[in-house]
Amino acid sequence: AVDATSLVDAWRRRVAAAPDRSAIAYFDGTVSARRLDGLSDAFAAALQDRGVTHGDRIGILMQNVPQYAISFLALWKLGAIAVLLNPMYQGRELRHLVDDSGVRGIIADDQLHPATVETVEGSRVEWIVTTSGLEYQTRGDPRVFGAHAAAQPSPDGDMAQLIHEYEGRRPTEPGLALDDIALLTYTSGTTGPPKGAMNTHGNILTVATTTAAWMGVEPGDSHLAVAPLFHITGAVIGAATPLLHDTTLVFVNRTDPAVVVDAFAEHRVTCTTGSITVFNALHRVEGAGAEHFASARTLYSGGAPIPPATVEQFRERFGKYIHNIYGMTETTSAVIAVPPGVDAPVDEASGSLSIGLPMPNLEARIVDPAGTPLPTGHQGELELAGPQIVPGYWHNPQATAGTMPEGRLRTGDVAVMDEDGWVYIVDRLKDQINVSGYKVWPREVEDVLYEHPAVYEAAVVGRPDPYRGETVVAYVSVKGGETVAEEDLIEFTKQRLAAYKYPRTINVIDELPKTQTGKIRRRVLRDTPQEDDT
Ligand code: ATP
Ligand code: MG
Repeated sequence: AVDATSLVDAWRRRVAAAPDRSAIAYFDGTVSARRLDGLSDAFAAALQDRGVTHGDRIGILMQNVPQYAISFLALWKLGAIAVLLNPMYQGRELRHLVDDSGVRGIIADDQLHPATVETVEGSRVEWIVTTSGLEYQTRGDPRVFGAHAAAQPSPDGDMAQLIHEYEGRRPTEPGLALDDIALLTYTSGTTGPPKGAMNTHGNILTVATTTAAWMGVEPGDSHLAVAPLFHITGAVIGAATPLLHDTTLVFVNRTDPAVVVDAFAEHRVTCTTGSITVFNALHRVEGAGAEHFASARTLYSGGAPIPPATVEQFRERFGKYIHNIYGMTETTSAVIAVPPGVDAPVDEASGSLSIGLPMPNLEARIVDPAGTPLPTGHQGELELAGPQIVPGYWHNPQATAGTMPEGRLRTGDVAVMDEDGWVYIVDRLKDQINVSGYKVWPREVEDVLYEHPAVYEAAVVGRPDPYRGETVVAYVSVKGGETVAEEDLIEFTKQRLAAYKYPRTINVIDELPKTQTGKIRRRVLRDTPQEDDT
């Protein structure tokens, strides 16, 4: 697909190469590449009749379901821009994305329909098409997806019904260029309000092609979509990469770790990319073991730091190594990754696990605040350039100029590169803690906490302190059935870290606050008043 002229061109080549191969598997059913092409043609023709045209923004508000793939292909065939809306967002959060992107229409899960109608009232949204009617089978429990909401079908139409009506029809396709925008994806909002990154056809083709080559994707592979498709990793590595490469994309109910474990075994899944939260959650599934993961060749975890202890615990129980992968919404997902079959090195000084080597077509440098490259082994901001980097943020030239001056992306991540090219993320620039002038990276303290056998998840933040400027505070949740005393945990870190680094307060809480993509939100913890901690 390297020389493809658009995502649609790359998709067509895949269909032509193996039309009868399953492109999608969901529960007990499959959809061939030819059939998926037909379904998306019909849906595109229906949308075209509703006036959808080149450059229009259309929202997708869905869980990980096959209709996501149909929608992507249909919108791309029309030259429209898919705006990925987080289905867990509520009223105000969702309304912000809808207004910011100016979506004309929304394709929504049935269950989300009533609340969505309310949320978009008075906005520029002209219609909402729902997804009921495609049958889903769960083992021994047949049900129609969204059946309970079918009592409130959208007056604007229903995907299954539209596809039925337009069966056999194809849209008139506009000419597409590599720099046309294919996706508008919003950043996770970990450090501020989400910003809309404009991922072009060329950006996505580059990443999909590079990643497939890097991971050694082969025809007939089975790729499990565990990362949410409304996030860049899910959309590009989880969906576009398998769709464009003669492989089967397996959908499951991603929120249930037991279903994920079963799907691995049943669909003989070869590759998946998720967040470390997902891999961690698999430990909670009783009876899950190495036998379920026998077919897995490449397991990738991206989006957030991986504590080295977690990788070891996973390998011990499930027999597979979790490969680190680094990417941002602005880099159209994966750009730095650990090659398959290789254990990533751990930085001796900080104890951090390498995120991997820069993938082909990427220029990665470590720079000082003025943007001047630093020598090997020096800490600085990671700066990236290449055909994966988005041309900018939607309608936000100021943020674009600030974050990607002259097309070079300032990641906001502090990193080190060793002489062999391995990259280590130290932490986010904005999260550094300053204790009496000593710099503490929360990440290093968290990695130590994860070494404690009772700790499930950990987050470290700085708190204003009248004497030291800032003081180190930790929050942890414990594994099921475990308990731990705060003093013991403090002692544990004290033995392993310099005096200014170990946390003076550790709060054991039930669950750490996270973004919908599974990132721990340190900011929320930092801004929590101390009295309410436990
Ligand atoms: P916002 O930009 O709105 O604050 P965000 O940066 O979390 O949110 P994303 O684009 O989803 O939004 O995430 C990119 C960030 O995730 C990177 O800048 C980096 O800090 C972090 N990240 C991604 N992959 C890894 C990884 N493998 N290891 C450590 N950190 C990672
Ligand atoms: Mg960011």
